Amino acid sequence: MHIDIITVLPELLESPLGHSILKRAQAKGLLEVVVHDLRPYGLGRHQQVDDYAFGGGAGMVMMVEPLANCLDELKAQRAYDEIIYMTPDGQRLTQGIANRLSLKNNLLILAGHYKGIDERIREHYITMELSIGDYVLSGGELPAAVLVDAIGRLIPGVLSDETSALFDSFQDNLLAPPVYTRPAEYRGWKVPDILLSGNTPAIEDWRNEQALARTRERRPDLLEDDE
Ligand code: SAH
Repeated sequence: MHIDIITVLPELLESPLGHSILKRAQAKGLLEVVVHDLRPYGLGRHQQVDDYAFGGGAGMVMMVEPLANCLDELKAQRAYDEIIYMTPDGQRLTQGIANRLSLKNNLLILAGHYKGIDERIREHYITMELSIGDYVLSGGELPAAVLVDAIGRLIPGVLSDETSALFDSFQDNLLAPPVYTRPAEYRGWKVPDILLSGNTPAIEDWRNEQALARTRERRPDLLEDDE
């Protein structure tokens, strides 16, 4: 999969993309992420990318022209399955959306800044708008990193135990069951006996029961949802 990200702060994406599973996915050639600095597309001597909002009010807006030029250049190089704008008023990112996007070949993600981007970019270029939750961040870089992480770990071959993503929370609309590792007892706190029994089918049943109980208690809404 190839992912392009457009941002005014490329440095903010270096660390999230440069470690752990996303690093491994890129090293294995399963994922290619290219971060594009919007600044060189800025206008004039100061490479301006934002301007005052028409109609007044506080806060700057990302200008249409630098974004359109950058988007045109990238679109000329490949056919994108989706051009995604990260925005608090977008559709809420879910595991289901991450699953679907992990099957695509080419994605473009636009990280906003300031008050957001000129609406005309949203109308004429953006095919999908995603929010990572009902709160406002100062820029779209962390949301873009969240999206790339959620998608990247689902690409076949990225996780060493390929099936492990299937048992994470939200797959099958269930939260994950509790997990334990050694030692089996610490300060008198014991790991449930069943997990030490070696009885694989019984352990499987226990995990399913726990997942269901935890979902009923914490997120009953997931059980009504059939997305
Ligand atoms: N004025 C806008 C918020 C702009 S925040 C509004 O009220 O809707 C600046 C940038 O941060 C946005 O352009 C977006 O790219 C990013 N951003 C902020 N919160 C986000 C969220 N919850 N999900 C996704 N992107 C977000």
